[in-house]
Order: sequence, then C-alpha cells, then structure tokens
Amino acid sequence: MNYHVMTLFPDMIRQGMNTSIIGRAMEKGLLSLDCIDIRAFTKEKHGHVDDAPYGGGAGMVMQAQPVYDCYLHICSEIHAETKPRVIYLTPQGKTFDQKMSVEFAKEEHLIFLCGHYEGIDERVLNKIVTDEISIGDYVLTGGELAAMVLMDSISRNIPGVLHNDISAETESFSDGLLEYPQYTRPEVFEGERVPEVLLSGHHANIAKWRREQSILRTYERRPDLFHQVEFDKKDRKFIKEQLGLLLP
Ligand code: SAM
Repeated sequence: MNYHVMTLFPDMIRQGMNTSIIGRAMEKGLLSLDCIDIRAFTKEKHGHVDDAPYGGGAGMVMQAQPVYDCYLHICSEIHAETKPRVIYLTPQGKTFDQKMSVEFAKEEHLIFLCGHYEGIDERVLNKIVTDEISIGDYVLTGGELAAMVLMDSISRNIPGVLHNDISAETESFSDGLLEYPQYTRPEVFEGERVPEVLLSGHHANIAKWRREQSILRTYERRPDLFHQVEFDKKDRKFIKEQLGLLLP
C-alpha cells in the first residue's frame, strides 16, 4: 500500500504515523507514506494557498490551482494510467466504517486530500475526488487527523501489518458484532476474578462464551448493529433464552 497525503501540514502526518505498528510496517516496506505540501505548488508570489470566499462569509477557502497541481504531481510520480482513488476528508462525506476500511486496503495507491479553513474550492473537488469520507458528525480544524484515522485503520487490513492476522478477524465489527471482553494476568484484580471458563483450557467452551459475550455486548451497546447481524440457529437459541427475543 502506498499512501500519498496532500496537506498543508506534512510534518503533522509524518510524526503521527511514525510509531508503533504502523511505523514498523513502514520500516518493513509493507506501507509507504508520501506527504506532499500543497503550498509547494502555489503560483502566488507570497505563497498563499487560500482566498476569501466568493459571495462573502467568514473564513478562507483553499484555492483550486495548488491542489490540482499537487494532484497532477502525484499522478505523474505513480505513473497513474487510470484515475487514482482520491479520498477527500470532509464532514460532508459518508461516515467511515470497517467495511470501507477493508475495501480501501485492496488499493495499491490511495491519495488523501486534507482540507483546512472553510474547505476547498468545489471545482477542484469535482475534478479529482473519487470518495468523500467523514470520520464523524463533528467538525475538525483540518483533514489531517481524519486522514491518519483512515490510514491507521486501513493499514490493519493489509496482510503482514498485524503480527497475528487472526486478531483483525476477531475484532469488533469484523463479523458485525463488538468484540468480547478481554482479560490478562493476574487472575484476581481488586477482588474480581477472571471468568472461570477462560482458565479452563477448553477451547470450544471459551469460543462459545466469547460469542455469547459479543452478542450480549452488541445488544446492550449497539442495538443498531445487533439488528443487522445474521445469526445462526445456535445464536438465535441463546438470544431467545437470554434476551427473550424471538428473531426471524
Ligand atoms: N466548512 C466546512 C463544512 O462546514 O463542511 C468545514 C471545514 S473544516 C473547518 C476544515 C477541514 O477539516 C475540511 O475541509 C476537512 O478536510 C476537515 N474535516 C473537518 N471535519 C471533518 C470530519 N468530521 N471528517 C473528516 N474531515 C473533516
């Protein structure tokens, strides 16, 4: 996977992506990260990349030309023969989720466009953007943190990035459910014992307990997700007994 980030703050991205699992994946060559400073492409003699909005109103708008030239530069660097995938981070986009993360992880190149100020001139967005993505219903100062959220999540779905590929498969959302609770040493903490079944060494019982905990957790915490899951016969029996729900 090769990430290319169009930003006014390249150091923010480099520093944020340099540590832990993602940093190691870059060292191993599983990921590459190219942060491109949009300001380097301005033709304005004072280095400005923004201007007042037509029609008036508060704030400044990022101009189309530096963003477009930055995009053309990336296209020529990656020898793009077809239009590359360009993700514009915006509170107006589709809300990012695990399904999108898995989908994006299949691309060879992903270009992220980070806005600032009041946003970016609509004409360049119409020309280059393929996906508009939000990380939630709130407004950030810029797209950089949102781009890092996406890259962090997408990277986890790239083979070899996580030590144990099974871990990504059992995590929350992978099967539509939240993950079961986790415990580690010691067996007793502040008087509370680890659930007995986890100490039993009985793999089938442990798997059953975890599945049931995932079901209960999702029902309590995310009923919206719970009602989208396709449960099997065993699950439905458990749900009827524990929650008194009769699923079709
Ligand atoms: N005026 C814009 C609007 O109301 O839609 C908001 C601009 S915001 C202050 C500046 C930049 O931050 C945006 O261009 C976008 O790149 C980024 N941003 C803000 N909130 C975001 C969110 N929830 N998800 C992704 N990007 C966001």
